[in-house]
Amino acid sequence: MALKIQGVKGAADILPQEIATWHFVEEKTRELFERFGFKEIRTPVFEHTELFVRSVGEGTDIVTKEMYTFVDKAEKSLTMRPEETASVVRAYLQHSYHVKEPFQKWYYIGPMFRRERPQAGRQRQFHQIGVEVLGGSDPQLDAELLSLTVQFFEAISLNDIEIKLNNVGCNQCRPKYIGALKEYLKSRLAKLCEDCHVRFEKNILRILDCKNKDCRPVIDKAPVILDSICPDLCGRHYEVVKNRLKLLGITFTEDPHMVRGLDYYTRTVFEIVHPALGAQDAIGAGGRYDNLIGDLGGPKELGATGFAFGMERILMALTKKNVTLKEKSLNPDIFLVSLGEDASKQNFKLLYDLRCRGITAEMDMTGRSVKAQMRSANKSNARFTLIRGEDEIKSGKVTLKNMKEGTEESLDPDKVINILKY
Ligand code: AMP
Repeated sequence: MALKIQGVKGAADILPQEIATWHFVEEKTRELFERFGFKEIRTPVFEHTELFVRSVGEGTDIVTKEMYTFVDKAEKSLTMRPEETASVVRAYLQHSYHVKEPFQKWYYIGPMFRRERPQAGRQRQFHQIGVEVLGGSDPQLDAELLSLTVQFFEAISLNDIEIKLNNVGCNQCRPKYIGALKEYLKSRLAKLCEDCHVRFEKNILRILDCKNKDCRPVIDKAPVILDSICPDLCGRHYEVVKNRLKLLGITFTEDPHMVRGLDYYTRTVFEIVHPALGAQDAIGAGGRYDNLIGDLGGPKELGATGFAFGMERILMALTKKNVTLKEKSLNPDIFLVSLGEDASKQNFKLLYDLRCRGITAEMDMTGRSVKAQMRSANKSNARFTLIRGEDEIKSGKVTLKNMKEGTEESLDPDKVINILKY
């Protein structure tokens, strides 16, 4: 019996009948992001493991549980990228942009890999559309990202998104907050789930993100980070972001408990949710990461900000809203029908010549009868059908049928191109 090998769980095939929607979203992304001044970057799907450990953070779920890590033949530990910000910053530094031209606006579209439990909207290979603004600390850049977010979701007919916004402080003020949070949670640990106990030791801020219903009463009353942020820097930064969003008429909800799962965020953080998505309602997320360029060996003063949207979640929301795009039909200009080997050989050559001259041409190569080929020609919606049977072989001519008008003519094969180009 033949060996039946299935695809890896959580890594989906994207079939030809689904591709039109992918192309639609990708084309809108390129058009819009470039209008906002972003250029595309493509980085490899794998990197040295250390890059993600250092940037995403040692205590995060991604690094502790979800990375696809392997040792290659040179005994190097490599990891399939779980996200792309780290890779983009690595490329920025490796190619000396921080020296040559520190301010850069880049975008990417591509697959990411996380070993999560597969479920609706959660895959092990998924795709993200993201941007990174490197070398800028101005709060207006954060507001610009959110204005791009709003425009993007409008362009793909998902205008009912909600923006959740928070400010998680910086290296100066966050330790003070962490101290206050620790103090508050210490006496309430018994009321929290097991995961939260681990988070308490490893990454206490993540407790605020806990989705367990039983933990919520304690978390909801926890001190909020906004009360601890330094007023001159982080506080002012937050005010400017909010002010610019209001200036552009962009609505948002402040969520004082949102901290995000990755360690590198500073100041602005945001999440984009869509009501059609149910439990996995986050369609995208992002924020500022002012320390990452410095942490990866670049200049400390270069700030950065970015976001990533989940492609599969975008497609899920589009499906729920019944925005599906029809499979692109190829509608050839011409379908070539042949009777017998000789005719097939001559049509095979003509097929190539026509394609080389910009014509979309098709022919049957499965040895079907003339009748079956005529059916395929009809089904393909070709503008013309060319028939080369016994008579045509003898006369050296071909029969060209105009499928719309129902007319046919006998002509020299060399003349076919002129009619098609017309
Ligand atoms: P993150 O990089 O975790 O901030 O995620 C950004 C966005 O990527 C999320 O809002 C989701 O839309 C999407 N995403 C993250 N993880 C997955 C996953 N395992 N499967 C599908 N989409 C995901």
